[in-house]
Amino acid sequence: MATFPLPFIPTLSYKTGGRRFGANRDGGKRKHAACDLIAPKGTEIYAVENGKVTYGPYLFYHGTYAIEFRLDSGKVVRYCEIEKVASGIAVGSTLTEGTLIAYVGKMYVDSMLHFELYDGSGSGALTVRSNSPYQRRSDLINPTDYLDGCALLGAVQYPVGCALPGP
Ligand SMILES: [Zn+2]
Repeated sequence: MATFPLPFIPTLSYKTGGRRFGANRDGGKRKHAACDLIAPKGTEIYAVENGKVTYGPYLFYHGTYAIEFRLDSGKVVRYCEIEKVASGIAVGSTLTEGTLIAYVGKMYVDSMLHFELYDGSGSGALTVRSNSPYQRRSDLINPTDYLDGCALLGAVQYPVGCALPGP
């Protein structure tokens, strides 16, 4: 099971409103290519699985940055709208699931992690302006189910039948 990229599940759902994958942008001319995980600026962002940094950090949008990495499973993930990467994280860095790799950035008003997922079958740049409506590489996939299947970092799993600790 993969690790959720933030230390908590955002109160504002990444499955509704303008935060969801496929939400309209620019009056319907473009669709949202990610799930937006709303969190305070500076919130820690973790590696969802083991992998390796392939590109970045580079300027993404209104003073925020993006970083790309390939998971050992073959999928490609892009963390966008980050403030900065954690110390020691650069192209070629090996990522271990759950390690701190970046911090949530802030744009005009909102601060969030814009989470993009690709199945890894494509090659080249992830942003492809000519590829409507998402304007992304053709192997872009909806990350909602993936995020739903993640476990929070540090979440304790008690075996069935095991007594839970008291309050
Ligand atoms: Zn977004």
